[in-house]
Amino acid sequence: KSLKAKEVRKRYLEFFASKGHEIVPSAPLVPIDDPTLLWINCGMAPLKKYFDGREIPENPRIANSQKSIRTNDIENVGRTARHHTFFEMLGNFSIGDYFKRESIHWAWEFLTKEMELDIERLSVTIHPEDEEAFDIWHQELGVPKERIIRLTDNFWDIGEGPCGPNSEIFFDRGESFSCGDPECKAGCDCERYLEIWNLVFSQYNHNKDGSYTPLPKKNIDTGMGLERMASVLQQVDTNYETDLLRPIIDHAAMLANKQYKVQREFDIAFNVIADHARTVTFAVSEGVLPSNEGRGYVIRRLLRRAVRFGKVLGFQEAFLYKLAPVVADIMEDYYPEIKTKLDFVQKVIRTEEDRFRETLNDGLVILQNMIDDFKTKGVSVIGGQDAFKLYDTYGFPVDLTEDLAEENGFTVDKEGFETYMQEQRERARNARQDENSMNVQGGDLAEFKEASEFVGYSNLNTDSSVLG
Ligand code: ATP
Ligand code: MG
Ligand code: MG
Ligand code: MG
Repeated sequence: KSLKAKEVRKRYLEFFASKGHEIVPSAPLVPIDDPTLLWINCGMAPLKKYFDGREIPENPRIANSQKSIRTNDIENVGRTARHHTFFEMLGNFSIGDYFKRESIHWAWEFLTKEMELDIERLSVTIHPEDEEAFDIWHQELGVPKERIIRLTDNFWDIGEGPCGPNSEIFFDRGESFSCGDPECKAGCDCERYLEIWNLVFSQYNHNKDGSYTPLPKKNIDTGMGLERMASVLQQVDTNYETDLLRPIIDHAAMLANKQYKVQREFDIAFNVIADHARTVTFAVSEGVLPSNEGRGYVIRRLLRRAVRFGKVLGFQEAFLYKLAPVVADIMEDYYPEIKTKLDFVQKVIRTEEDRFRETLNDGLVILQNMIDDFKTKGVSVIGGQDAFKLYDTYGFPVDLTEDLAEENGFTVDKEGFETYMQEQRERARNARQDENSMNVQGGDLAEFKEASEFVGYSNLNTDSSVLG
């Protein structure tokens, strides 16, 4: 028996609606009124106003499926079975209403009754001092002691504000996925125990002076990865093989005329491309355009990464924009905005791809010559000045220089590079003063040569509402 991802999403929301939750739509990826966050990165983020008491919700029980972006896992993306830069988080929340007991009971009920997961394959982690959670899992729900693992890390605390212990639920994917460590169990970083759901019990306030006091009204914040849940229910080895991502990979494979699941190096490239295609498509559909600062810079970096992995698969010209319609087909039932913005999104992606490819080709030739030349001289370091020149003249990002250097067994003198960057900043600052111009582009933007070279999207038929 297999369940489509959209069924999982639907059944989750229906389940929590039946427990009295208000179902709210996904908020945009770009946070509204929250300067502390670059992206919405979990289901709770857009509900912060309720958690910190700025607003009182009509119904203290809320559930959602929230599109999220995280870049902290980037090195894992495409390599592990479970990490993405864009993913959906299913969550149920209590704002001073139900607490630990209901949250644990309902999570268990959903997984074992609604989703019919094999109880034997589930294990949980708790905070070592959370006897209350232990009793609920063990006494009330019958989870055997050896499958309740105590981890000191299980405490959710981001400094001043509400915090508390958490409990996570893991699905055992079987011996063959294990790292082989005899101690391998839930919480191990390998592929055997898949973390599917995090239940956070915020019951304390972390005070300014560092002390903790019980909260008068306790909250529940949970998050379950839709892609991970789908991989379990569809009995596939990785998130990438679920119906949320596999069609994107299949389309890319068709375009590249290469097969998936034959060669590890290609698979990583396919995975990264499928992941980044989703992130870029969703972000651009919200009006985030590739640029040299903030969110736009993240999108530019992800797009460029996808293009570079595309080279591994032999793509010689723009291809990423061709994957956006596949993303739209998969996601439109829950995110109809993706379909309506599709033309715009494709134009933006294609322009950026073409532009990067030109830069890349020019810079690559120069860098390769440099490397070849250095090799004959027995040098294995790309100096700060050379890295800076590549950057300054060819718009070649230093991280790209580093990647290519590494592939050739070279290193880059990052410190030297920074020195040149600093000098350039000084020059730019002085130049601005000389011109007596307003310092509107200070900070990050002024540091990027590319900004001034970039012709922009003025030649595109942009939808002004999306840019608004
Ligand atoms: P991991 O340890 O696997 O990196 P996490 O502990 O960082 O996950 P949480 O912050 O607890 O993740 O997020 C709640 C849930 O959201 C996770 O249990 C997982 O199902 C899902 N999730 C988190 N990060 C990602 C990601 N990068 N890609 C896909 N799903 C994720
Ligand atoms: Mg993580
Ligand atoms: Mg974790
Ligand atoms: Mg977690």
